[in-house]
Amino acid sequence: MTDEDAAEATLAPDEAFAVLGDETRIGILRALGAAEEPLSFSELRERVGVDDSGQFNYHLEKVVGHFVAKSDEGYTLRRSGRRVVEAVLSGAVTETPAFERTRIEEACEYCGAPVEVRWRSGNVELFCTECAGRYGQSYGATKRPEPVAAGYLGRMPLPPAGLQGRTPDEIVRAAWTWSHLEMLAMSSGLCPRCSAPVETDVFVCEDHDASDGLCDRCDGAHAVNVGARCTNCIFRSGGVLVVVLLADTALLAFLTAHGLNPVAPDSIRRLNEVLADYDETVLSTDPFRARFTFGVDGDRLTLTVDDDLSVVGVDHGTAASQ
Ligand SMILES: [Zn+2]
Ligand SMILES: [Zn+2]
Ligand SMILES: [Zn+2]
Repeated sequence: MTDEDAAEATLAPDEAFAVLGDETRIGILRALGAAEEPLSFSELRERVGVDDSGQFNYHLEKVVGHFVAKSDEGYTLRRSGRRVVEAVLSGAVTETPAFERTRIEEACEYCGAPVEVRWRSGNVELFCTECAGRYGQSYGATKRPEPVAAGYLGRMPLPPAGLQGRTPDEIVRAAWTWSHLEMLAMSSGLCPRCSAPVETDVFVCEDHDASDGLCDRCDGAHAVNVGARCTNCIFRSGGVLVVVLLADTALLAFLTAHGLNPVAPDSIRRLNEVLADYDETVLSTDPFRARFTFGVDGDRLTLTVDDDLSVVGVDHGTAASQ
């Protein structure tokens, strides 16, 4: 570790936030983030728009070290400074981002009825206009599952910046890519925000009966739901199994062999029919062991999953052979 790296790593979170609690200092980080090359003291002061050079220097000194590097060529952003600017800009939009439930072109993977979408608190939420949807409750937003409106098909994270210049259908597609990138990280065991290890929980409904849409007991379409949480930061997520299984090699190979790309889908509905509308058999609850069968175009993939949500068995077959 160089001295520079050490300077970046050794600021406690409360100190880091104290340093950032000032408009001029955030302005310095944003100006450096927008700059193509290192900026001299006077160029930087001019771009931030502060006339008093003594006052400007006072604020600049506060961010040099942890957020800003100073060299002979001038001032540049450090990695943690870039992260701050990225976070600020992912939430910075010209208008208050909100849109109410809007019908999109995608159809429900369970019943084929039109789907409606809305954006709320950093998430794109999807609802079927006819069937019961996938969940009667939402997993992962808080420590416990929370009730949701009828027809709920789930939510996908999307920062406010993701709404800019996109139609509702394009927004859903963007959210799909964004959330599947997060799932690939989570199912590889790392937090998509901070890269620390992720821990998973399994929720199993022992008397599951979803023959009428949603089960009366667990309020969901599937008996097995999962939650994932970071061991370091506050990130949490959850939902159907695919949240923690998407990076499985057999599943990815099965998808791509059928022209389904989980991060750049042609048809969200077709992908959802595989990833959300699968058969499940709970073999044991203590320890947890279950079998999940995904199907597309007459082909089937069955994954047996153990207590750690690791895949311990892979079976290929056609619909006729099962
Ligand atoms: Zn439906
Ligand atoms: Zn149930
Ligand atoms: Zn984290």
